[in-house]
Amino acid sequence: MKKFIYLFNEGNSDMREVLGGKGANLAEMTNIGLPVPYGFTISTEACNHYYESGKNISGIVEQQILAALNTLEEKTGKRLGDIEHPLLVSVRSGSVFSMPGMMDTVLNLGMNDKTVQAVAKLTNNERFAYDSYRRFIQMFSNVVLGLDIFYFEQLLDEFREKKGYKADPELTADDWKEVIERYKLIVKRQARMEFPQNPQEQLFLAIRAVFDSWNNNRAIVYRRIHKIPDHLGTAVNVQSMVFGNMGDDSGTGVAFTRNPSTGEHQLYGEYLINAQGEDVVAGIRTPEPIHVLEKDMPNVYKKLVATCQLLEQHYKDMQDIEFTVERGELFILQTRNGKRTAQAAIRIAVDLVKEGIIDKETALLRVDPEQLDQLLHWRIDHMFKREPLTKGLPASPGAATGVVVFDADEAEKLGKEGSKVILVRPETTPDDIHGIVASQAIVTSRGGMTSHAAVVARGMGKACICGCEKLNIDVKNKRFTVGDTVVNYGETITIDGSTGEIMLGEIPMIEPKLSEEFKELLSWADEVRDLGVRANADNPTDAQKAFEFGAGGIGLCRTEHMFMDPQRVPIVQKMILAETFEERKTALKELLPMQQGDFEGIFEEMQGLPVTIRLLDPPMHEFLPDKEELLVEVTRLQLTEKGSPELEEKELLLKKVQQLAEVNPMLGHRGCRLGVVFPEIYEMQVRAIFYAAANVLKRGTAVKPEIMIPLVGHINELQRMRRLVVETAQQVMREAEVEFDYLVGTMIEVPRAALTADQIAEQADFFSFGTNDLTQTTFGFSRDDAEGKFLQTYIEQKLLPDNPFAVLDRDGVGKLIETGVKLGRSTKSNLKTGICGEHGGEKSAIEFCYMTGLDYVSCSPYRVPLARLAAALATIRHGKKKVEISSR
Ligand code: PEP
Ligand code: MG
Repeated sequence: MKKFIYLFNEGNSDMREVLGGKGANLAEMTNIGLPVPYGFTISTEACNHYYESGKNISGIVEQQILAALNTLEEKTGKRLGDIEHPLLVSVRSGSVFSMPGMMDTVLNLGMNDKTVQAVAKLTNNERFAYDSYRRFIQMFSNVVLGLDIFYFEQLLDEFREKKGYKADPELTADDWKEVIERYKLIVKRQARMEFPQNPQEQLFLAIRAVFDSWNNNRAIVYRRIHKIPDHLGTAVNVQSMVFGNMGDDSGTGVAFTRNPSTGEHQLYGEYLINAQGEDVVAGIRTPEPIHVLEKDMPNVYKKLVATCQLLEQHYKDMQDIEFTVERGELFILQTRNGKRTAQAAIRIAVDLVKEGIIDKETALLRVDPEQLDQLLHWRIDHMFKREPLTKGLPASPGAATGVVVFDADEAEKLGKEGSKVILVRPETTPDDIHGIVASQAIVTSRGGMTSHAAVVARGMGKACICGCEKLNIDVKNKRFTVGDTVVNYGETITIDGSTGEIMLGEIPMIEPKLSEEFKELLSWADEVRDLGVRANADNPTDAQKAFEFGAGGIGLCRTEHMFMDPQRVPIVQKMILAETFEERKTALKELLPMQQGDFEGIFEEMQGLPVTIRLLDPPMHEFLPDKEELLVEVTRLQLTEKGSPELEEKELLLKKVQQLAEVNPMLGHRGCRLGVVFPEIYEMQVRAIFYAAANVLKRGTAVKPEIMIPLVGHINELQRMRRLVVETAQQVMREAEVEFDYLVGTMIEVPRAALTADQIAEQADFFSFGTNDLTQTTFGFSRDDAEGKFLQTYIEQKLLPDNPFAVLDRDGVGKLIETGVKLGRSTKSNLKTGICGEHGGEKSAIEFCYMTGLDYVSCSPYRVPLARLAAALATIRHGKKKVEISSR
């Protein structure tokens, strides 16, 4: 018979797929001897079985649950529904990947009109027993029977008001009894049934509800965002209850074994005295920091610290634990690898190596390259004198500016329209997830460092401030006030999630610097990786960033930006409008020293590292005014200024613009086709590059220029262009009386180039795969049209797994890269190969490039650190290459 149910002592941490993350952990903790309340796990397979059986718990599963329950009852000496020693259990979801707050939980199950009396007697605390019972009715009715929590809260609010109470602790046992009777009436009215009194019936209803919650809307959205497959299903953990609300020697809390924001090695977290777990998560009472526990209950604190050490030694990673103290006794309810900011991930990984707990490769594997992006974002300029409006808890670091919105739907709407928004709420719930996704940052007036908003924001790398109690939020009238200051919907604020400060208006920000731990981790990545990482940089400032972030050279310098400088555009236009070769040469002569200056700056910044410079690529009309606008202007002048020189000039310009207009510029007169028709343009560029190289060399800095020809599709194109480059180089070297090495290579960005790479390699010292254009030409998509019109539909309807312009299409574009590398190297075994499309900074493409044997990837300077780590991970996962290549 298939096993669907596992007692906690029957599982272990390798059984995540079957037991879910939480179940596997509970089993593991039980086995290493931690104080875990006993219970059993209903497997993810049982969940799938439930769906396969048309949402039915089959006879086999039912039998196994009853048998496990029997064991649990024997172990604890309590029985479900027993009127002397009743067993109370929690029923919690637990999927393979953590999905915080997305699915359902029921606590105190087993309570009914009889067992509540037993609990009162056993604990000698009638008030507590009836409070627990009413919590149970409320939660069960909401989660299992699907009733809106509002009915219960409204009733309770009215009850408190009537009695003149301010808070729940003022309610007496008799008050709770009265509330319970009214709660039951709500159930009867809204659910058209009596509140179930049979604990076994309660149990099976709750198990069903947890299975069903796998497919609630928020869980589905969360899975989509985090790319968690739908077929995994959730496990259900049934565990005996312990109580944190049995008086001032009880409590409940959440602790991280290290600081999840900064990574510092200190016990971190918060707890509430005399409270149940949901009080912490719901953020209704603001919890105390964990060190207060040391004062309140020194022995429990000592045991907690020791337990944390044991957990870290065992799991070899930072843990996020939930604990409860029941009458001075510590119980660990769950532990998992704690979610952390990028900054903390790095610090923890590096520290764990230094503490001898993990090795360097494990440390590298602990950091997700994508996460590093967070650290390379802007933060508030420290020279700026801040005038914070107010301060909350620094729940997730980073700074952000945006307009204030008070509702998740609104945040989503404005975010989609391109506005930067900051979502301000009393607290967030899993139903706000779409609004959080669309916001720059989140601010809540309630809740602590482990509230929903804080956990979700940290996971997404968004700035977040919680528990900002001075913030009076008026959701209905769309405004918040702090003292006398009123901030309305749509006004701009800036927040600093690292300090918890909220400021009015927009504030100057500065670029981030790499921390010492970050540099250390990257140095380990460099020791491991054997894939080079270069940067795409078009000017000395970007080149400087690239060098600072550890790029091994420039893989793509797009020279068109040098033509687009506003001061140069008139000369560029003169060059394009030239009627004769001589006229064009004159304009080019003016451009040459300007471009030479740019190249000198770039060579200086790169200090002898290779610099790949691509000759002019875009079609010429991109440097001329817009055709439509010009037409309007000419028509206007024809009516008002007939015969004027201005009109004549504009008419001439219009004629040229019309001549140069293309039906499909993406496939038009661009790339090396420009160099073939106007060789003097390419010659000027090459001259500027080599003059710059000669000057920098004479000043004592090494140079490694690599000239790259764009959009080659036929060997004859490259042959012609190569000759031009070589002849120009010889002239410059003679003129300047200096010798330097240089390479001439090509981009591979049309399929024909990849398919004839064996021929092309005869004329190329290197290939650089331009996967932006290669994706366009392989799919036959024009990127602007595709992304603007139909690609979203393709992705939504799963015709394509991802946007191929963001995530490399391994099957199609990837196959052309493989073919290109293989054919190219069949001609020239030492042919250098790289990638310089946007994919060069994407972790999956980087892995692919490594597997395909490319020598380097090139990406935006800000993604260089990420690429260095991703390259190291590719080596760790796929093994080292035999041939060492030079990679800085
Ligand atoms: C490419 O096509 O991938 C490329 C790098 O060139 P560009 O994006 O400038 O067309
Ligand atoms: Mg291109």
